[in-house]
Amino acid sequence: MSVDLHIHSTMSDGTQAPSEIVAEALDKGLTAIAIADHDTVAGVRLALDNARGTDLTIVPAVEISTEHDGAEVHILGYYFDLRDRELGEVFRYVRSARLLRGDEIAAKLRQRGIEISLGDIEAESNGESLGRPHAAAALLRKGYVKTQQEAFDRYLGRGKPAYVPRYKLTPFAAAEAIRAAGGCSVLAHPGLGVGTRMIRDLAEAGLNGLEAYHSQHTPSNTRRALELAEEYGMLVTGGTDSHGPGGSHPVAIGECEVPDECFEALLAWAQENNAHIPE
Ligand code: AMP
Ligand code: FE
Ligand code: FE
Ligand code: ZN
Repeated sequence: MSVDLHIHSTMSDGTQAPSEIVAEALDKGLTAIAIADHDTVAGVRLALDNARGTDLTIVPAVEISTEHDGAEVHILGYYFDLRDRELGEVFRYVRSARLLRGDEIAAKLRQRGIEISLGDIEAESNGESLGRPHAAAALLRKGYVKTQQEAFDRYLGRGKPAYVPRYKLTPFAAAEAIRAAGGCSVLAHPGLGVGTRMIRDLAEAGLNGLEAYHSQHTPSNTRRALELAEEYGMLVTGGTDSHGPGGSHPVAIGECEVPDECFEALLAWAQENNAHIPE
């Protein structure tokens, strides 16, 4: 219980600010954490500032949601250049698409007599990366649902009346964008619906690692990922995917067994590949 390489902050759809995540990590004696927000690195910068002068290592990270053959595939990036212009453009483009989609979600809700504006949804976020959890929070705040989960079940989930798909890259494009920025690309939670064929194709296209350890993985999900990583010579990473207390995936940070070697191997990869390791 000492490293957690997949955490969301308030900069995307988590409920804890980067400063709170850093404080909790220090409190729990974690040695390395990665804030892997959706399509933004704002939380990484804040965490780096907050952890300066402590024993806690902040691993620069991001999570990009992609789609392939209609299935969701999430790509994590580690140790890329936080100032890379092209990757920054990709994030900005995807975030602006998220904003337009928030407006469409609000319009669909209004068609069903729910008085909600884009502003109400934005008010639940930090204005960085807008997502469905913010729409769920707005529905909860306005009393239309009793829990955020109910908001997904009744309105926002796939196939529900206010579901709006959003612009997504392909997993190959996301992994390539991370590679081009000098980073390490890792397939997030492969156990959550990613087929072995897809994993093989990504491995052959140059994917660097698999997130074998994840709070929602079964032991057999983890085993398959470890076997495939071994077969293709890929790195193995792990994390909770915590979205903070009350968030859409409420597991506390550090509460997923991730071997320290995962972090050590990732850092060694960064050193060998001249990646961007923050001071
Ligand atoms: P978005 O990227 O805006 O589509 O939002 C995706 C996020 O919404 C995921 O990271 C989860 O945090 C949450 N989410 C997606 N589907 C559900 C669901 N069916 N129930 C609860 N939370 C969900
Ligand atoms: Fe999320
Ligand atoms: Fe994910
Ligand atoms: Zn995540």
